[in-house]
Amino acid sequence: MEFQFSEKLLLALLILWSAGLFLWNLRGKLELIRQGPADRVRTDQVGKRLARTFKEVLFQTRVIGQRPIVGALHAVVFLGFLLFAIETVEHFLEGLGVSLLEPLLGSLLPTFRAGMAVVATLVAVAIVGLAFRRFVLVRTSPDPRSITSGIVALFIFLLMLTYLNGLSASPVAPRANWWLHALIILVFPHLILRSKHFHIVMAPVTLFFRTHRLGDYLPLDLEALAEADVEDVSLGLEKVSSLPWKMRMDFLTCVECRRCTDSCPAAQAGTGLDPRAFVLAGRQALRTGSPDDEVTKTVIPDEALGFCVTCGACENGCPVGVEHLQLLVGAKRAQALATGRGVVASEFFRAIESYGNPFGLPRDDRRKLISDLEMPRFKGAEGEWLLWMGCVWGYNPELRPAVKAFRDVLDAAGLSWGVLDEEPCCGHHSRRQGEESQFQDLARRSLEVLKEKGARQIVTPCPHCLHTLRREHSALDGDYQPGIVHYSELIRGLLLQGKLKLNTNETRREAAYHDPCYLARYEGIVDAPRAVIAAAGATVRELPHRGAQTLCCGGGAAGFVRELESEQRLDRVRRAEIVRSGAELLITACPECRMMLGAAVDETKDLAEIVAESVQAGQEARRSDEPQLAAMGK
Ligand code: SF4
Ligand code: SF4
Repeated sequence: MEFQFSEKLLLALLILWSAGLFLWNLRGKLELIRQGPADRVRTDQVGKRLARTFKEVLFQTRVIGQRPIVGALHAVVFLGFLLFAIETVEHFLEGLGVSLLEPLLGSLLPTFRAGMAVVATLVAVAIVGLAFRRFVLVRTSPDPRSITSGIVALFIFLLMLTYLNGLSASPVAPRANWWLHALIILVFPHLILRSKHFHIVMAPVTLFFRTHRLGDYLPLDLEALAEADVEDVSLGLEKVSSLPWKMRMDFLTCVECRRCTDSCPAAQAGTGLDPRAFVLAGRQALRTGSPDDEVTKTVIPDEALGFCVTCGACENGCPVGVEHLQLLVGAKRAQALATGRGVVASEFFRAIESYGNPFGLPRDDRRKLISDLEMPRFKGAEGEWLLWMGCVWGYNPELRPAVKAFRDVLDAAGLSWGVLDEEPCCGHHSRRQGEESQFQDLARRSLEVLKEKGARQIVTPCPHCLHTLRREHSALDGDYQPGIVHYSELIRGLLLQGKLKLNTNETRREAAYHDPCYLARYEGIVDAPRAVIAAAGATVRELPHRGAQTLCCGGGAAGFVRELESEQRLDRVRRAEIVRSGAELLITACPECRMMLGAAVDETKDLAEIVAESVQAGQEARRSDEPQLAAMGK
């Protein structure tokens, strides 16, 4: 198409106006981010960060993850968006009297255009599908209706329509069609800046800068802070001014999809904790609040904060890499360390302080347990396993059958193993409730004991201890790095090595298996417990929330020792799901989950119990076969 000089001039001015205004407004947003303090190095392992971002952005893995159909439609629009970047440049160059694609592609241009016509059709269908879901299927759509979203959808649809019209042999009103296409593109960036569609620009950046692993909390050097000028000390997220730049970026990038809220057990239990709401409140606080506003007043209310079990479901499913956990634990630190208003866990902290365990029980209880069960003491010999029991196995008498079962499993495998006379609390829940000082004391005490005893390989039934010993204690002492495994991993290994013989003749039972958050979501251990269950003669009836998408039992962040009103209890949501599954047997692989879900169905067993039963059944079967084999001369 030929353009007059006046048209070219008008187009050039419009491009300059649009780009200039976009950069000016973008500068304002970036300034909001820039005002936030730094929290940690976020540019280490650049190659790894780039590879992760490339995978998550280009293949839209986080978008598709929890909502496959909607995610796939979004992926079509996004990939179309990328491909159309070439045609957009070509469109404006054409208006200025230049062509790029013709000299570049030559005879391949018709083929390229035919391909782009297919892409445009797919994008148009996908955007109609997304709009239909949002504006018609409002009952099933978790997204709120928004005028901007409607305009963006209309613009994308019109862009595809005008593109296809421009390609046709006899386009309708070709010049008007061309200008409409150009004007939509020129206005589009401003809609992006003023709406949740800002994520188009920011999502790759937030994904690049996010922490390497879930729940990698900011280390606090408390000794250095104690020596610093009191005025300069920041122990947590007290004021809006203390929100770091990445958190601010997260707030501005949130796409409002509500995946976080939908997967939050506290939100499902109706406690008032709503991850999307606090992210959006954070955005509002940045835009209109004062830097001196308190985070627990303007961003996330004190009471709601207390219901967070740090299960990580919100952050794990966020398509744009928002780090909810940093905000949650940062605000809890401010509560617990700076203002002394630890809302939910003060009793927990006191119990740990006075008794060294969250139940507030005398240390003699644990000593009695290990002596009653005749558990060997750890000596630190070569090849010896240390069984790190964790507080729940150590102090809750209801879980004694599980402890005994695992003792029997270890003995049946012929392992050299032992327990500590005095096992400190690892500090997991103290850290998650913001009591960083208590966590660091407990972590140091644990490290001292482990080093003194010479523990080189540790097995624990508790995913919370596993995560804390493996990820957080090791970060405090780089010189001491013992091997730490979950008991499901150890048992699977023993089965593979043939050291454990189970009864394979037993009739298979069906059982629901509950994935613990800190095992499946934080540590990625999903297959080992299932392999063990299968070997022990049961078939797993999978629950709707499973693997990394599991639903918390409510025990996290000291929930297993808190007294709550029944309507506030998070475990009732998971229990209801287990009951709906119709399973008669529930298998758990975490002492806290076992406590929280014990009464969900008729029968609940610890993983160690079903293995011990199968070992015993196997031994009995072999014993009953012995006379026959002897008679047969074998
Ligand atoms: S960590 Fe779990 S409980 Fe806390 S806000 Fe996120 S999803 Fe909800
Ligand atoms: S924080 Fe993430 S998951 Fe939650 S609404 Fe925003 S974009 Fe969606």
